Amino acid sequence: MSDCLFCKIIAKEIPAEIIYENDRVLAFKDINPKAPVHLLIVPKKHYDTLNDIPDDEMDIIADVHRAVKHLAREYGVAESGYRTLVNTNKEGGQAVFHVHYHLIGGRQLPV
Ligand code: AMP
Ligand code: ZN
Repeated sequence: MSDCLFCKIIAKEIPAEIIYENDRVLAFKDINPKAPVHLLIVPKKHYDTLNDIPDDEMDIIADVHRAVKHLAREYGVAESGYRTLVNTNKEGGQAVFHVHYHLIGGRQLPV
């Protein structure tokens, strides 16, 4: 997706603070953090929304969650607690249309 912001970050065409990468997943710091730890974890393959991942490609979500688990420990929030969040479409508050998981922690989050 040539006009996708996160695809450009994945392609290293625009800068981001990349903190984790493997062949299928990339993670970087959110540019507008809502908490002391606010990371974004994305599949390298472009999907507009969670709705657009075919059933037979859903194993990418396990790959993303493996990175979440690793990063939660690395950033010191695994035990204190953190939130993973995916916004989908307009009423879900999605602003960037490339599937991404927020990993948010480092302070008490509201219910
Ligand atoms: P969402 O509302 O779930 O689509 O979240 C999009 C997130 O992307 C927001 O938390 C933004 O702060 C973040 N964001 C937007 N542009 C960038 C960027 N260039 N680098 C890192 N994070 C970004
Ligand atoms: Zn994309």
